[in-house]
Amino acid sequence: MLRRSIFLTPLLLLPVRAETRPLRIVASFSVLADMVRNLVGDTASVDSIVALGGDVHEYEPRPSDLEKLARADAVVLNGLGLDRWMNRLVEASGSKARVIVAGAAVVPRQLPGGITDPHAWQNPLNGILYVQAIAAGLSQVPGITARASAYIARIRALDQWCLSQFAGVPVAQRHIVTSHDAFGYYAARYGLQILPVRGIEDAEPSAEEFAALATRLRAARGEVVFLENLTNPALLQSLANETGARIGGTLYADSLSRPDGPAGSYLAMVRYNTQTIVSALHGQ
Ligand SMILES: [Zn+2]
Repeated sequence: MLRRSIFLTPLLLLPVRAETRPLRIVASFSVLADMVRNLVGDTASVDSIVALGGDVHEYEPRPSDLEKLARADAVVLNGLGLDRWMNRLVEASGSKARVIVAGAAVVPRQLPGGITDPHAWQNPLNGILYVQAIAAGLSQVPGITARASAYIARIRALDQWCLSQFAGVPVAQRHIVTSHDAFGYYAARYGLQILPVRGIEDAEPSAEEFAALATRLRAARGEVVFLENLTNPALLQSLANETGARIGGTLYADSLSRPDGPAGSYLAMVRYNTQTIVSALHGQ
């Protein structure tokens, strides 16, 4: 409360300044925050609720989140069931922010049991839809149309580059195993067959499920197993040991890396994942 009153006082004294302050935009997780930063440049401050390396599927809100959201001018969500907790948080904060759902125009990937796959950003073509939705929601930001066009051109070029990378891998070899079901949209775009060890946000498999998975992996010789930046690698490592499958590297699914890491931005993440998968599949 103390911090709040200190913060509010100068605004009350300087109403003109308050009106001209930079916009405050809050995104639910790091991928969206990076997209927003590319669109607003230095005209707005951009924050992410889930910190780098945090789990956006299941997030435990902190009191400071409410404060951030209460002060936000715009809030950017993924939608598709990923960050439902954000809606409750925005409401609880009493925020008057405009809410932008980045994934609103995506054709959802439906899974058995009526579950929607929320990981749409992993397909760069969906990334473009995200950018268009965010830019439309923030249309009052100076220069956003030009920044959006330039950014979309970079995403499009990245998609073409990914296609060219996979063109060198025979379709029959494009089988991979991942920690959780985060690469369905990516796989559909680049013709991959993916066997996720866990579902979207399921618990770890039981002993029976693990045995069944090992049997499937042994039957499919030459499978490559990928770890993920947010998931405990022990399960996949033991699966690889048991079946003789190779560990192909670590993929970035639901969080960017630190800025100096291999996946410090959305573009870098897709590029790094593609390099990791393609070079592992070439090594078969
Ligand atoms: Zn996920």
